[in-house]
Amino acid sequence: SKVLVTGANGYVAMRIVDQLLNAGYSVRGTIRTLDKSKDLRQRFSDFVEAGKLEFAVVEDMGNDGAFDDAVKDVDGVIHTASPVTIIADNPEEVIKPAVSGTLNILESALKFGNKLKRIILTSSTATIFSPVTQPTVLNETHWNTVAVEEVERLGREANSFYKYMTSKVYAEKAFWNFYDAHKTDISWDVSAIIPPYIFGPALNIFKTPSEQNASTKLWWDNVIATPATPESASFAKCWVDVRDLALAHMLALQKPDAGGERLLISAGPFTYQDWIDIASTHRSPLKTHEFPHHKEFGGYLPKGCPDVKRDYLLIYDNAKGLKILGPELKYRTMEETTADILKDYAARGW
Ligand code: NDP
Repeated sequence: SKVLVTGANGYVAMRIVDQLLNAGYSVRGTIRTLDKSKDLRQRFSDFVEAGKLEFAVVEDMGNDGAFDDAVKDVDGVIHTASPVTIIADNPEEVIKPAVSGTLNILESALKFGNKLKRIILTSSTATIFSPVTQPTVLNETHWNTVAVEEVERLGREANSFYKYMTSKVYAEKAFWNFYDAHKTDISWDVSAIIPPYIFGPALNIFKTPSEQNASTKLWWDNVIATPATPESASFAKCWVDVRDLALAHMLALQKPDAGGERLLISAGPFTYQDWIDIASTHRSPLKTHEFPHHKEFGGYLPKGCPDVKRDYLLIYDNAKGLKILGPELKYRTMEETTADILKDYAARGW
C-alpha cells in the first residue's frame, strides 16, 4: 500500500519515509520545490529506482486544492509539514500555513481520497503544554490555553515560542473539528501523534552543524558547542528519539484502535545536563570543530554543570500511546540516542 508523507524532506518526515519504505510501503512525498527532494533521492536512491518512492511538488499548501492530486490512490496520509521556525513577527505567519495546510489535506482527502483509510497529523506537545510551577503530569485530555490566550491578547508582542505553540493548537483543533463535522460521511478516520522535543540522528544531508533542523541544533548547541551555564544545563523538558517517533507514526496507521485518538509519544523528561553527563563519558567524535571549553577534558566531551538542580516539573503521560500502539513501540534510552548522535557527527566529519 501507498502512504503520502507531506513535508517529506523534513527531519521527522525523512525518518518516517525510511520507516515506511523499509516496512514495504510505497511512499509519495510532497516537497515545496523539486530541489528539496535532493537528500531523499540520495538516501533512498534504491527505492526511487524501484519506483517505491515518488515525489509530488506542492508549492504552497495554503492554496485551495493544494493536495488534490497528491492524495489520489494513497491508503494513508501522514501530514508533518508545518512551519517550525519560531521567529515570527506577526503570529499569522506561522498560524496561517499550519492551519490551512491541515485543512487543505483534509479537503483534498474528502474529494479524492478514494482508497484512504487514515490520516495522521504530526502535532506537538505545544498543544498540551502549560507553564507549571509544581510537579504535573499532563495527558491527551489537556490543551494549552496559556499560549493561545497570550497570542490572542498580545499578537505581535507575544512570546515567539507561544506563536508557534498557538499555530500547533489551532492546526490540531481544526483537524478534529473537520473530522467531527465529516466523520459520518467518510470511510477514513484520523489520529494525532503528539511528540515533545525530538532528538536523534538525522537522515538529512546537513553539511555543517548550522544547517541542522531546529531541534537537532538545540542538542548540538546545548550539549556540544556552547559552554553550559546553570541556566542552560537545568533546562527541563520531555523528549523522544526521532526514530521511535517515526515508528509511532507508522504504527498509528496500522493499529485500528489508534483511529480517533490523540497519542502522546514521549520517552520521558530530560535536562541538558542529563545529556551532558552521558555525552561526557564518550570521547569527542569531532574532527573539525575545536571548542575551547572542550580542551580540559583530555579528549572526552565536557562535563558541563554536574551539580545543577534538576526539576522535572512537567511530565507527559505516555501510557495511552504505549497501550494502543502495542509492544512494537519501545523508547530508546538517552544513552542509546547519545551514542548514535555522536556516531552520526563522526560520520559527517564534523
Ligand atoms: P523540519 O523543519 O525539519 O521540517 C518541516 C517540514 O515542513 C519541511 O518539509 C518544511 O518544508 C515543511 N514546511 C514548513 N513550513 C511550511 C509551509 N509554510 N508550507 C509547506 N511546508 C512547510 O521540522 P521537523 O521535522 O522537526 O518537524 C516536523 C513536524 O514535527 C512539524 O509539524 C513540527 O511542528 C512537529 N514537531 C517537531 C518537533 C521537534 O522537536 N523537531 C517537536 C514537536 C513537533 P521546507 O523544507 O520546504 O521548509
